[in-house]
Amino acid sequence: MKATNIVRTVLTAALGAIIFASCGKTVTCEKVEIVPKPQQVTMQEGTLKVNPARVEEKITYKTDAALGEEAYVLEVAPKGITITSSTPAGAFYAMQSLKQMLPADKSVKAVKLPCCTINDAPAFAYRGAHLDVCRHFFSVDEVKEYLDILALNKMNRFHFHLTEDQGWRIEIKAYPKLTEIGAYRNGTMVEKNWNKVDSVRYGGFYTQDEIRDIVKYAADRFITVVPEIEIPGHALAALASYPELGCRGEGYEVCPYWGVFPEVFCPGKEETFKFWEDVLTEVMELFPSEYIHIGGDECPKEEWEKCPLCQKRMKEEGCANEFELQSYVTRRVEAFLNAHGRQIIGWDEILEGGVTPTATIMSWRGTAGGIDAAKKGNKVIMTPNSYCYLDYYQSRDVDKEPLAIGGFLPVEKVYSFNPYEGLTKEQQQYILGVQGNLWTEYIKTFDHVEYMLLPRICAIAETAWTLNGRDYADFAQRMQHLRTYFDANGWNYAKHMFEKAE
Ligand SMILES: [Zn+2]
Repeated sequence: MKATNIVRTVLTAALGAIIFASCGKTVTCEKVEIVPKPQQVTMQEGTLKVNPARVEEKITYKTDAALGEEAYVLEVAPKGITITSSTPAGAFYAMQSLKQMLPADKSVKAVKLPCCTINDAPAFAYRGAHLDVCRHFFSVDEVKEYLDILALNKMNRFHFHLTEDQGWRIEIKAYPKLTEIGAYRNGTMVEKNWNKVDSVRYGGFYTQDEIRDIVKYAADRFITVVPEIEIPGHALAALASYPELGCRGEGYEVCPYWGVFPEVFCPGKEETFKFWEDVLTEVMELFPSEYIHIGGDECPKEEWEKCPLCQKRMKEEGCANEFELQSYVTRRVEAFLNAHGRQIIGWDEILEGGVTPTATIMSWRGTAGGIDAAKKGNKVIMTPNSYCYLDYYQSRDVDKEPLAIGGFLPVEKVYSFNPYEGLTKEQQQYILGVQGNLWTEYIKTFDHVEYMLLPRICAIAETAWTLNGRDYADFAQRMQHLRTYFDANGWNYAKHMFEKAE
C-alpha cells in the first residue's frame, strides 16, 4: 500500500519548522515540522492549548476503513484532536506525528498547537533498518533503544542479523553448542590489523525468552522483526560448534577476523539441510514475520569445488557450476519455508546461479541487482551500499571520526537516493521498500551505533515514507527540531549536518 505518503517520523516529527516560541509558561508550536515529512499538511485558523503530559485525553479516535493500512488523518482543531485510521498502526503513526508537534522538553506544561489537518500515508510498505549483532553484540535493552529510534521514524521492519563467522547470537534448543561454543570468540582483530588479535574472549547471545521479549517490544511499535540466518556462507561460528556440517569436517574456530572466509556449510551432506530446517523451525516459532532472511551473500565456492560430496550433489542435481549449487540450496530452503507459510529474502548474490520468481532480493552491491531482479519480476528491497550503508564514514575528515570500515556517505547523499531510478513504472511496483544497514565490525558500543545511525536513518525513513516532494534544505530545517528529541532521549548523533546549518 503505497498510498500517498504521510509522514512518519518518529520522533522527529519535527513539526515543520516547528518553532516553539515561548511566551510565559505557554509554549507555542508555530509550524508543523515532522520527520518523515507528511504527505499533506493543511494549516487552519486557530490554536489548541494542551498539556503535553495529558494530550492523549483530548484525542478522539475514529476508524475509516477506506484509509490505507498505515495511513492516518490527524486533525488539530480548537475543540480537540481527532485521529482517524483504518488500523492501530495508522493511529500509532499519527501519535508519532503529534509527539513531534510537542516540545521534547518534558517540563513544559502548556503548548499552543496550530490548528491543522495532516493527511498521511507511507510511500513504501517496507521501511527497514538492519543491525549486525554478530561482529559486536548488543544487549536486549540496547536493541530496544534501537527499536525506539525506528518507531520515532515510522519505520516498520527491523532486520536482525543473528549469525556470522564471528558469533552465533540466537539460542537454538536443538543445537545447544551453537551458543555454548559458537557465541564466543577467543579474540578480536585489533582495529584494521589482520596480524594482530587481542586475547579477550568476546561474545554473547539472546535466549529464546529474550528474543520473544524483543519481538513483542517491536510489535508494540508496529515493527516486524525480520531475522537473518546466514545460509550457506558466513558459517564459521556454526561450524566451530558442529564441524561435521562443513566440507572439511574439522578444524574450525569462531573467527577473530573480519572478512569473507572459504569455510562454508557443506550442501553435499543431508545433515546440513536437516540442521537448517531444524534451526529455521525454531526461528519460525520465535518470529511471526512473513519474511525470513536467509543471507546468501559472500559465499566462496572453493571448498565446494574440492569436496566430493558437493561434487556428487551437483551431478545429481544437474548443477553446471558451484553458483548453481548455491541456487539449489536457496531453492530447497525456500521450498521448506514456503511450506510453512513463509517467504525468503536473500542478498543479491542469490541471483547469481538463477533464482526462483518468489524470492525477494535485497540489493546491496549498488542497485544493479535490485534493478535486474525487478525486471525479472522478483520483489526487491533496496539497500545499496552507495546510499544505505550506515557503517561508512560521515565525513572526509576521517581523523576526527571514530574508526569506520571506509566509504563516505554523508546524510545529504543518503537523502538523495531514489529507489525507483532506472526502472519503468511497471517495474517500480516490485520495489517493496528501502533499508539502512549497520554492520558493526568497527562499532563496539551502542553509543557508536547511535552515532552512525543518527541522523542518517532519518533520511532513509523520509525516502521510504515520503519519497516524492523531498527537499534536502527543508529536511535539514525539520531535523533541527527532531534533534531536540535525540538530546532529550540521550541519543548520541552525528552533528555534521547541523554544524553546516549553523
Ligand atoms: Zn561439501
